[in-house]
Amino acid sequence: MSFASQLITWHHKHGRHHLPWQHSKTPYRIWLAEVMLQQTGVQTVIPYFEKFLSHFPDIQSLAQAPQSKVMIQWAGLGYYARARNLHKSAQIIIKQHQGVFPRNYIDIIQLPGIGRSTAGAICAQAFNLPYPILDGNVKRVLSRFFQINGWPGDKKIEQKLWLHSKNLTPQKEIAIYTQAIMDLGASVCTRVRPRCQHCPVQNNCLALKHNKVALYPVKRPKKIIPTKQTIMLIIHNRQNQIWLQLRPQTGIWGGLQSLPEYQNLADIPKRLSKKRQLGNTLKHTFTHYHLIIQPLFISSSAKYPLTRGRWFDLKNLDEIALPTPVKKICAK
Ligand code: SF4
Repeated sequence: MSFASQLITWHHKHGRHHLPWQHSKTPYRIWLAEVMLQQTGVQTVIPYFEKFLSHFPDIQSLAQAPQSKVMIQWAGLGYYARARNLHKSAQIIIKQHQGVFPRNYIDIIQLPGIGRSTAGAICAQAFNLPYPILDGNVKRVLSRFFQINGWPGDKKIEQKLWLHSKNLTPQKEIAIYTQAIMDLGASVCTRVRPRCQHCPVQNNCLALKHNKVALYPVKRPKKIIPTKQTIMLIIHNRQNQIWLQLRPQTGIWGGLQSLPEYQNLADIPKRLSKKRQLGNTLKHTFTHYHLIIQPLFISSSAKYPLTRGRWFDLKNLDEIALPTPVKKICAK
């Protein structure tokens, strides 16, 4: 039996069949799920997926919504470029595809925020087209199955994995196969303690054969990431409001509201220098650096304490698209 047939047979009995995006399958729901799953685990995604759909049930409602409303539904899920790209893509679909999600790979991969693996997963799941995928789970399965000697993030190794993925992808039952290989990575060929004795492809897995499963996928070469510092101002007034500024569209937390930031105490405008009170620092880690946040509380009665930004009611915090660490600071 081929690799694909073994996985498909296994999936009928052991795969996941009750994920919210597996019901009422539409290209829109599949697209949304695939984008949310790009950097986030299934269990975290499920409530966000359902909440997002209740606000934006179709491409039209997403395209028409202001970006701030989209960001509110995404706040907390991280990697915010995904939400901005989703919104942009919905508008492109309305303008260029008459509001209908495109059915072919070339049009799909041209939408912002859709890479090769996401395009492949959408083609397979929504349209039954035989395109390979290579998400984190699949990289892990294939790295072990073929005992690939090299870190999957390395371009050459990634190309090798794509080739394997392509060769294994069947022409038929592609939607089930795609779901099966993702499920295998999520539930059997897991990052820690893989359950090889339950694996449908254990007889041909090279890492298992050589008793080296724990060594694959090869780890990323160690890199020390830098630490940056920032001061965040929590400017508060008697009406129980805080002053927030919209972040630029690009860069971290793009398109979210956030606290005003300064590199040094000396940079803070003089009119805000009185009655400052420091709080405990907070550490937040991004992929490329750690950020140490020093919160600084300031009471202000000014109508415009800074030129950029506006007052927001603290009681409405849940309705504002805020980065997670900023939400934590404000909640305190
Ligand atoms: Fe992964 Fe083990 Fe299956 Fe190999 S046998 S693919 S290591 S679960």
